[in-house]
Amino acid sequence: MLRDTYLQINLNKLKQNMDVIQNFIGKEVGLGAVLKANAYGHGALEVAEHLYKHGLNNFLVATLSEAVQLRKSNSNYHIMVMGHTPDSYLPHIIKHQITCTIFTLKQALILNELASNSNQSVTIHLKIETGFNRLGMQIKADTVSIIKQISNLTCLNLEGAFTHLALKNSESDQEQAHKFNSLMNQLEEHGINIPVKHIVDSIGMVLHPEMHLSMVRVGALLYGLQSEEKGPLEIKPIMRFLTKLSHQKTIEKGESLSYGLRYVSDKKTNIGTLPFGYSDGYPRNLYQKGEVTINHKRYPIVGVICMDQCMVDLGDDVYTDEEVIVIGDGEHCMSVDDLAKHAMTNKNDIVSRFTSRVPRVYVFN
Ligand SMILES: *Cc1c(COP(=O)(O)O)cnc(C)c1O
Repeated sequence: MLRDTYLQINLNKLKQNMDVIQNFIGKEVGLGAVLKANAYGHGALEVAEHLYKHGLNNFLVATLSEAVQLRKSNSNYHIMVMGHTPDSYLPHIIKHQITCTIFTLKQALILNELASNSNQSVTIHLKIETGFNRLGMQIKADTVSIIKQISNLTCLNLEGAFTHLALKNSESDQEQAHKFNSLMNQLEEHGINIPVKHIVDSIGMVLHPEMHLSMVRVGALLYGLQSEEKGPLEIKPIMRFLTKLSHQKTIEKGESLSYGLRYVSDKKTNIGTLPFGYSDGYPRNLYQKGEVTINHKRYPIVGVICMDQCMVDLGDDVYTDEEVIVIGDGEHCMSVDDLAKHAMTNKNDIVSRFTSRVPRVYVFN
C-alpha cells in the first residue's frame, strides 16, 4: 500500500452479517450473495473468497464481465448474471459456465444452439416482468407456451425464475408477487416445475418474509448497509474509510481557502489537509456537511472538496500521526448512512462510488 487513504474491510463482520441473514431466512431458503459493482465497492474477489470459505457458494452479479472476473478466481463458484447479456457475448456464458438470465424466446434459442454446438448445457433463470418495467418477460396469453418451449430446449437447464420488486409500498409489492406466483402456478399446472424461485432483495427480504420462496438476493445487508433507525437485523457495517493528515497550518481570522476561496475563516484556527478527494469517490457535494473524526472528536470539512484533497478545521487541536476516520462504524464518526443523507443519495450509491485508486485493506477483527 503506497497511500495513507484506504478502505478497511472487516471480513469477520461480513461473516457475522451472513450468519444473521441466514438465521433470519432459515435453512429452507437459499442466500444469493449479490457481488455486483465490485461487491458494492468492498472488493468482489475477496468478499466471494471469504463467503465461500464459510460455506456460501451462490454469487450474483449484474454483468458478464463481473461474472468472468469471479470465474477466473475460482472454477467452483456458482455465478449468475442477473442483467442482460447481449447475443454476441453468449459464447462466454457457455465457456465460463455462468448461469444466464433469459427473458426472450429468441435468446433462449440462440443460447441453446450455441450450447448444442459445443456439446454443453447452460443453466438459465427466467426474468419475469411484474411491474418494475426494466427487464423481464411480460406476462401475456402465450407466456406459458413460450416458457414451455424454453423448458423443452435440450441444452438449457431451466433452473430458476425471478422478478424484482419496485418497493413502492406493500400493496404494489404484493401485486407484483401475486403476478409472479400466479404464473409459477400456471406453469406447474402445465407440468413445468422451476426449482429456484426468487423475488426479494435486502429490503424486500426484511419486509416480506412470505416472499422468500427458494432464495433471496442480498447485497446491501451483507455489507451492513441498513438504516440505523429502520433496521430490525443485527448487522454491522463492514467498511471504514481511513486516512492521515498530510499537512497542518494556522490561518488567521479572515483568511480563505480552496477553490474560489469560498470558505472564509471567522477565527484564527489550525487547518488540516487530508489526502483524499472526490476522485476517490467521496461525494463532492459534502462540502459544508462532511465531517471527519480524530481521537473521538469531529471536525468539519471546510472549503470546496478538491479532486484529490480536502481541508478540515481542527480549531485549537494539533495532531501528529493520528488515524483520521472519514467513514466509521461508531457513534462518534460519520456513517455511510450519514453520508448518503447529506449527499442526497442512497447508501449503495456511496459505497459503490469508491474508485480503484483507494486501496482495500482486509482485516478480521
Ligand atoms: C442489486 C440487486 C439486488 C440486491 O439489492 P440489495 O438491495 O443490495 O440487496 C437484488 N436483485 C437484483 C435484480 C439486483 O439488481
